[in-house]
Formats: sequence, structure tokens, C-alpha cells
Amino acid sequence: MYATEFLDLPPLASAGGTVVLPGSKSISNRVLLLAAMSAGTTAVHDLLDSDDTRVMLVALEKLGCRIRREGAVLHLTGLGGKLQDTAGAAVALFLGNAGTAMRPLAAALAVIGGQFELSGVPRMHERPIGDLVDALKALGCDIGYLGQEGFPPLRIGTPRLKLDDPIPVRGDVSSQFLTALLMALPLVATKDIVIEVKGELISKPYIEITLNMLARFGVAVRREGWRRFTIPEGSQLRSPGIMHVEADASSASYFVALGAVAAESQPLRIEGLGRASIQGDIRFLDAAEAMGAQVKSGPNWIEVRRGAWPLKALDIDCNHIPDAAMTLAMMALYAEGPTRLTNIGSWRVKETDRIAAMACELRKLGAKVEEGPDFICIEAPAGAGAWKAGRIHTYDDHRVAMCFSLAAFNPAALPVRIEDPKCVAKTFPDYFETLFSAAQPVVGRVPVICVDGPTASGKGTLASQLAERLGYHYLDSGALYRVTALAARRAGLELGPSQEQAIAAVAAKLPVRFQGERVELGGEDISETIRTEAAGMDASAVSALPAVREALMDLQRGFKTLPGLVADGRDMGTVVFPTATLKVYLTATAAQRAERRHKQLISKGISANITSLRADLEARDLRDTTRAVAPLTPAQDALLLDNSLLTIDASISQVFQWWDDRQPFKPASLQAT
Ligand code: C5P
Repeated sequence: MYATEFLDLPPLASAGGTVVLPGSKSISNRVLLLAAMSAGTTAVHDLLDSDDTRVMLVALEKLGCRIRREGAVLHLTGLGGKLQDTAGAAVALFLGNAGTAMRPLAAALAVIGGQFELSGVPRMHERPIGDLVDALKALGCDIGYLGQEGFPPLRIGTPRLKLDDPIPVRGDVSSQFLTALLMALPLVATKDIVIEVKGELISKPYIEITLNMLARFGVAVRREGWRRFTIPEGSQLRSPGIMHVEADASSASYFVALGAVAAESQPLRIEGLGRASIQGDIRFLDAAEAMGAQVKSGPNWIEVRRGAWPLKALDIDCNHIPDAAMTLAMMALYAEGPTRLTNIGSWRVKETDRIAAMACELRKLGAKVEEGPDFICIEAPAGAGAWKAGRIHTYDDHRVAMCFSLAAFNPAALPVRIEDPKCVAKTFPDYFETLFSAAQPVVGRVPVICVDGPTASGKGTLASQLAERLGYHYLDSGALYRVTALAARRAGLELGPSQEQAIAAVAAKLPVRFQGERVELGGEDISETIRTEAAGMDASAVSALPAVREALMDLQRGFKTLPGLVADGRDMGTVVFPTATLKVYLTATAAQRAERRHKQLISKGISANITSLRADLEARDLRDTTRAVAPLTPAQDALLLDNSLLTIDASISQVFQWWDDRQPFKPASLQAT
């Protein structure tokens, strides 16, 4: 997961290969609630691990469910419809921004009864819940608002249920209300219970998932059209023992779109669900095909490749695919003519007002957008020249973030900045990693930042922290020379020119692995071993051998992968990455560097003498700057930074600023809103 302030996506060119998608959010939280309310233990396979399911699990544990993980399987022992006695104290449940947890839990707890307080993040307290609360009150539940009328947080007490008359529920606001009632009422079905939907029912496919899941848990709801649902007398939730969660069809929509837009030479294969999925959003496939995608599917897979190009514009009622429809809005950027998505009023009450959000962000890219209370109409930028580099605000809405990654295929080859990329954790924590595994960048456009400089100049700290801040990979090239020297010594080689070819052979097959701060050689942790002064001197000796430098070249260049790289060393800017986006040459006085190294060693409990350290540094500098091959020297286009008097944070800010100045993104204040 990228926990950075933003993630810059370099321009992308094509896609292909295979992706495995996480479990469906809608199915995951329904399974958890039903398993929790059932008697017995349910082994849940392929459960989505995300913010929404995590808050649900914490809440269920608090209610007394037993939860045990065994590898990828979660075993949940339910309450059998009975809650723990809390001796009158209210149980406080925090549900983040998870509508799929708030609504059904509120309903289930209100019909079972007890003392509860349900709250969430501020946005959750802006998402209406009045219709569900009204329906529950009509049923005799004791439920009320702790804050603003009509919105969470909620208070729940003990009900006096009246189950004789049909229970009215509005169907035109959010289908989650009806889902909540359908899942809660089997807990009290001492007689037939009837629910009547008032108004047109939106998002019917989600109700189908609910009915399907209830059937798996032993409750056969009778349905007359989409107006009247009857929970038969004597219904009881029973664990089916094992439940498999399908991959999320809404998440799949981004990869279907990816295939339609960019899988030219080979298809993009999506594993975890097929066309026969029970999720409504699977019908996104029909819409994608109508826009030009070529789709094939089997029992648990879908393959997509580009068909019509440019894509064909569409005028489509999206009531049946509310979430995946956002992806159509992105595909519209690659279509000829205006794409009109109608009947999407529910977008306004989701994680954010999605119609407003999509309109605002699509305009930043140069698209022409018209929006209304329940529709949006998008026309692609008129030609490559009309595209703009967008700094995309994501409104703490996972779908906005995932959608806009698709803009990276723009014909102008502009990068796209996704703000707050971690918001994808709601349903798909590794979304960007998965995207990068299936997408190829425009050749030569993966950004590289080089930080070169003498030993103890602080380049390692600067480069690694910069990489962390940008979400880029980090290459510590010095470590490669250190590891090479260690491996050569262990092979009994003399670290001089006489053994140059043998050391180069060792370097070419170096079984090295970087795991965060940890460096491994053939599986052995050698992080500490290679950090000694002696190891540094050894590295300096092998690094003077041209064949060794050459042997490490491919390994170093292999680090340049999506979304970008920060590389530190001596010749990153001059030799290894000569076309890097930004080159920084970091220096500090020898006195300063000796002092820093001294502090570093002392803090590790290694005794050191500052005068001899300085002599060592200067000897190493001399050798590195005077060697015949790739001597230490600033690249011609490098920016010099003397950090003798700068704090680490100040150095990082400076380099970050240099880098940001080279990006085409306008400051947020100058963007269209
Ligand atoms: O940066 P570090 O102190 O780990 O590097 C160890 C040695 O490896 C340096 O003194 C230098 O001789 C060599 N080196 C190099 N080229 C690089 C990185 C390190 O020659 N790109």
C-alpha cells in the first residue's frame, strides 16, 4: 500500500499479463455479519482484507464473536442471534466510513436489542441513515440519533417489536437499507415478516447478492417483484460451514477498462471471478463491450483486450452498476463523442458526492463535463494537445483514486498525480501495486532521481527518505559494491586487479536481496556485516575494477521500475542513469562528514576515533575521485547541494522542491475546481 501524500503515475503505454483480485467488499461484510448472527462456526475463504472488513471484524469481536485466522482462512464463531450480557453498559462500536458495516449492524442490533452506540468518521456522520432508522422505529425498535437528526452516530436500546404489519422502507435512496433489514429480520422471524419497498428500488443487484447470501445461510426470502419481500416464519440463520468470497466485481472494472484501453498485443487476464458472478457490477462487462472491449470469460476468470479504438461513446442507464459506472466515466476519456451516464443519483450519497468529484477531477484533465442531479456527461479532451497534467484530489474515496489511475494512458503522455493514494485501502489496499504489475510505462518515462556524492555526505538517508515520501523504489548502489566485496572475500579472492574477472563473475551472479533496511546475501542477513568501515574500504577497492562495475550495471538498472526510483551512489547520474529526471550531487565538508560518521558508529555501540575516520574518508574520496573508471564527479546537469549546515529535513525539502518544480502539475491553487 502507498501511504504517501500523493503518488505520481508516470505515463503508461500498454497492459497485459494476469492479475488476481481481492475479495468483494459487499460479499465480505455480508458474510461476516451473517456468520456473526448465525449459530456455529463459518470458515471464510478469500475474505477481503481492507478498512471496511477490519472495522466490521473489530465490531463483531466486541459483540462477542470468536475470530481465529488460519492462513488465508478466517474462522468466525457466531452469536446465534444472542448478544453477550454487557450489564447495562452501552457497547461503543466505531465503524469508520464503512456503510456496509454501519447499516446492517444498526439494523441487526436494533432488532436484537441491547445498549449500543454506533459511530464513524466525520464523513460517515454526513451519510443519511434516516430511512433505515424510520423503518426500524416503525418496527418497534428503540433507536435514535446521538448527533444530527437523520445521520449517525446512533444510539440503540431494547425494542418492542411489532411484526404484524408490512414494514415500509424507501428503495430509492440506498439499497443498503433494505439489505440491512433483510439480514436482521430472520433473527426475530416468529411469524412471516413482510417488507414493502416504497418508490423505485435502486441498485437491485446488491439486493440479489443479499438474497443469495441469505439463502446460503439457510433463509429463503420470498420476493414479489422488487416491491414485497417476505421472511418466512421460523427462519433461522445457520452457518453453511464454509464460504468462499468472490473477487470484487467493482474492483475488476478497473482492470477490464485497463484491458479495453491498453491490452493491445496480449490480453489482460483477471482471476477470482467470471461472467457468472453473483455481483451486479459484473454487468459492467456488457457496458465495456459496448464501448469496444473484447471480453472472454470462464468459470473464475475474465480476459480483456482492446477491440474498437478509439472506444465508442455510450449513453447508458447505470442504475444496475452504480459503482462500476465510475469506471465508464474514465473510459469516456478514450472514446469518440460524449458518454452519458444516467440514473446515478446514488453517487451523491456515497463516500463523497461522486458526481461532483468526478466532474471536477475529469475537468482538470481537460475533459468537457456536464453534470446534473443524477447524470454526468463526459467528452474526452479534443486531441492530445488538450490533455492537462492533473493533480487529482481523491476525497477519501477509494473509487476516485482507482478510477483516475486510468488517466495515465493519456495520448499526451502526461503523468497523473493521485493525492492520498492510501484511500484505496477501503477495498483494495494493493491496487497500485497490482496496476504496476500489469501495466508498462511509456519507454524511458519511469522517473529516476539520482543522489550522488562522497561517503558520509548523508546521501543514503536523503535518498531513502525521498523514496519513501514519493513511494518510489530505492537503490543503495554502495551496498551492491559492499556485498560484492564480501562475497568475493568469502570466495577466497584477493580484492585487487589480479582477480578482476573472478570478482566480476561473483558480481554478475550476486544472490542479493533488499527487504526494506535488511540486505540479504543468499538468504543470510548481512545488513550489519557490510556497514563496517573495513567493508566500505573493501567496496571502494572492488568498485575501482571496470569489469566489476560493468557486471553490476544490469542489476542496478533493473531497479528502475514503476512508479519510479531514487538511486544513491557515486555514478548514478554520470553512468548508470544518464537520462535521469533529476540529479543531485550532495556534499559536506570532510570535517562534517567525519563527525556524522563518528556519531553514527557510536550510536551503534562501535568505538571510533574521529581523526582516523576523517583520514579514512579522505583516502576513500581520493580513490573514488581519481579512479580511471566512473570516478566520483558531479554529472554536468547535476544540482549541487552542500548540506554541511543543513538538517536532514531541510535537505530533503530542497531536493523534493527541485523535483516537484520539474513536474507538469500546477499548484493546487491554480487548478480548475
Ligand atoms: O556509499 P557507500 O559508502 O556504501 O559505498 C561504498 C563504496 O562503494 C564507495 O566508497 C565507492 O567506492 C563504491 N561505490 C561506487 N559507485 C557507487 C556506489 C558506491 O563506486 N555507485
